[in-house]
Amino acid sequence: MPYQELTVRTHNRIEGVDITAQIQKLIREKKVESGLLVLFVPHTTAALTINENADPSVQQDILAELNRLIPLAGPYQHAEGNSAAHIKSTIIGPSQTLLIEGGRLALGTWQGLFFCEFDGPRTRKVWVKIIPE
Ligand code: ZN
Repeated sequence: MPYQELTVRTHNRIEGVDITAQIQKLIREKKVESGLLVLFVPHTTAALTINENADPSVQQDILAELNRLIPLAGPYQHAEGNSAAHIKSTIIGPSQTLLIEGGRLALGTWQGLFFCEFDGPRTRKVWVKIIPE
């Protein structure tokens, strides 16, 4: 069975989009009780991460600190003008593997799954593979 494709519309240059509910919905639709979920972002200026989704200030702090560490304007070689986005994408990473148990994502109490946009706004894709046990 081929992977599924989730579309994520971003609205800012740099943004964390909580996609936890969309992924939970895909798992429910597949009726998988236990297994693995593999997520992959086929983009060079975006990423996936897991962190707190209870307090939005956590995502704001993560993005602000990434911007401080990797400023938009730097002594970069890449002529397209988005080197900072490429670097952030590489640091955070393009994929996540998660556990499915009891028909839902096995996440810690405060954890959520975030699509990280580093060169938006754009329409992005996340490839999703659900592997039943
Ligand atoms: Zn580029």
